[in-house]
Amino acid sequence: MVTVPALCEKPHDAVRCKRLTDRHGRRITDLRISITDRCSYKCVYCRTGNDGAVYAELPIAEYLRIARVFVALGIEKIRLTGGEPLLRRELPELLRELSALRTLDGEPLDLALTTNGHLLEEMAPRLRDAGLSRITVSMDAVDAEKFARITRVPGSYQRVLSGIRAAKRAGLDPVKVNCVLLRGFNEDQIVPFARFSREEDVIVRFIEFMPLEEDRLWTPESVVSLREITSALNGFRPLVSLAPNTASETAVRYTFDDGVGEIGIIAPVTQAFCGHCSRVRLTSDGKIRTCLFSQSDHDLYGVLERGGSDDDLAVFIRRTVEQKEARHHIGEPDFLKPSRSMVHIGG
Ligand code: SAM
Repeated sequence: MVTVPALCEKPHDAVRCKRLTDRHGRRITDLRISITDRCSYKCVYCRTGNDGAVYAELPIAEYLRIARVFVALGIEKIRLTGGEPLLRRELPELLRELSALRTLDGEPLDLALTTNGHLLEEMAPRLRDAGLSRITVSMDAVDAEKFARITRVPGSYQRVLSGIRAAKRAGLDPVKVNCVLLRGFNEDQIVPFARFSREEDVIVRFIEFMPLEEDRLWTPESVVSLREITSALNGFRPLVSLAPNTASETAVRYTFDDGVGEIGIIAPVTQAFCGHCSRVRLTSDGKIRTCLFSQSDHDLYGVLERGGSDDDLAVFIRRTVEQKEARHHIGEPDFLKPSRSMVHIGG
């Protein structure tokens, strides 16, 4: 049991103060945990094609211990990610433990997972049994040859497609498919993905390409913007807006005029949503990142390694979260690329 240290100055405010809040007044309720930075794909917008990187991951029990402390501080949603989280054999056990946790309001945690889908066909039923109820699969083309050019792994399309279908069969709901659009690679996939959403009954989400890749590919021109995406979709069938599911939802949601299919567009570059950001990240080596574009990490695992108690972890987390950046500066003259790429941060 974690006893949360009362850093709050007004005792009557203790409950509110117990919950993580940054100095800009945003409540932090969403934690992304990267459980490995290994990945079986080498997507061009994420990783370099060269091998030889040094990887870092913690024993699964350490992620669980850290997650428990975060939940005691007000985290309500945990997304497991990587690298590729399905590469960790102990993933079902971790999910089982996390799904038993309760938020400060006594509700089950909102548990989510992002995967490249390569191992999903065989693992989907076990993930469902372990307590996962929904899943996000990354797929950047519905064309096998184009997809392999992006992942740099032959045969990847068929495996991911089979994984998506297996996730649906296993009862994971919703199944979301994330597609990063990158000019020169897959901007012609917008309408094919609209058809895919309608035919496969999955939510397709287009993501604007962010400067988080290991290779230096990003330019403002390489970003396929929300405006361009909605224009292509409207040319296919008229879009109809859907209300956000939550106040801190990152995707702008649409369906079509006949109500079939759902599209989300995540536009961190052209329509930043930092003002209602509720997220922090834990990297696979146990560092807290308060923003994807942070210039530094905060070594939470160091506290644990030095024998710190859960209360010490809680104090460190609270102080770190308070320092969360107001916003990112993509596209501005003072923008500095972060010290880590997406695969080492955890998307
Ligand atoms: N391996 C898993 C996967 O493929 O989904 C989880 C990790 S991956 C880093 C998480 C998400 O980040 C994926 O949906 C991926 O498409 C997205 N991503 C990676 N690099 C990105 C970039 N430079 N811009 C936008 N999204 C990116």
